[in-house]
Amino acid sequence: MVASEIRALFAVASRPEVVSLAGGMPYVNALPLDTVGELVADLVARRGTVALQYGSGQGDPQLREQICEVMRLEGIDAGPDDVVVTVGSQQALDLITRIFIDPGDVILAEGPSYVGALGTFAAYQASVVHVAMDDLGLIPESLAESIQALTAAGRRVKFLYTVPTFQNPAGVTLTLERRRQVLDICHRAGVLVVEDNPYGLLGFDAEPMRALRADDPDGVVYLGSFSKTLAPGFRVGWALAPHPIKDKLVLAMESAVLSHSSFAQLAVGRYLETQPWREQIKTFRELYRERRDALLGALTALMPPGCSWTQPAGGFFVWMTLPEGLDSKAILPRAVAERVAFVPGTGFYADDSGAANMRLSYCYPEPDRIREGVRRLAGVIQQELVL
Ligand code: PMP
Repeated sequence: MVASEIRALFAVASRPEVVSLAGGMPYVNALPLDTVGELVADLVARRGTVALQYGSGQGDPQLREQICEVMRLEGIDAGPDDVVVTVGSQQALDLITRIFIDPGDVILAEGPSYVGALGTFAAYQASVVHVAMDDLGLIPESLAESIQALTAAGRRVKFLYTVPTFQNPAGVTLTLERRRQVLDICHRAGVLVVEDNPYGLLGFDAEPMRALRADDPDGVVYLGSFSKTLAPGFRVGWALAPHPIKDKLVLAMESAVLSHSSFAQLAVGRYLETQPWREQIKTFRELYRERRDALLGALTALMPPGCSWTQPAGGFFVWMTLPEGLDSKAILPRAVAERVAFVPGTGFYADDSGAANMRLSYCYPEPDRIREGVRRLAGVIQQELVL
């Protein structure tokens, strides 16, 4: 296990004078904190002996029903028996990897890919093979070629890990056409799909995308989370899995932590039951859309020629490519000296790729701070070009 690039950055980026375009922290300030406080107090008063007791390894039954209602927004038709509540979707990732991976097994993942997943895969000594992506998401032809080449070489491909909607870190979304192709390729090759979808309900312009899981209940393990639609502090996420995998997940969950926090689960359940959660998600969407616009507008106005970036339609992230010859990791110390932080691209690859890239997050700073951060960053990049 090694510390991720982001972890090391947090201390620096959290200094007040630094505009952090680095971490992907949800803007929890937009939550009705008083209401959440009352709800929690009421929960302890009314159901304290349940909330403060051990729970089941699979998770609170009522919350699992509510999770199914949330997933219906993305076309998923599932029952609570197939849901396992986890400590954020991060734990679901850990459990799935623990169940499936022996050292040396192959996991396919988009290049670039979510740094937290790469860390988990490394901890279980998986061998990650990246599949190319473009502005329309994972490229199906690359996926098919990778599977073919690996199989021919006698390697075991255990699963495809993908964040198809508003990807972290690239900010791109897999098109409907490609969704069908990806499912078809994996189905024919007998490769399980792990669909990680924490940002799916945070689209800025359209109805939620149909989840991969909606069209292949037997071939997809779906991971969801309340971290971005409510708050990461509850640490409530989930996995929706075909029966045999679900059973193993419950066993793995029990061996890891006995049961999830009953308190956190009941609090989230009570929130969903009593609060206008769809409205709250709309509030988040509008807030993040304004910040995305601030970032994209400032990049267009200020970045020197030769820089390019993605156009996210939801989620938290923009993926920027620097002009030829520049290395984002080498630029970072100077950027921090100029009081702006980003995450260098190399952290999002299991190989040595990504030197010319950086991830810019627009979820946390206010729009004016974002513009100021881009102004500082553009100045640093401009200087690098002159050097
Ligand atoms: N998957 C992706 C793609 C993420 O971006 C994150 C959070 N940054 C997670 C999983 C984990 O989220 P949590 O454990 O808070 O649900």
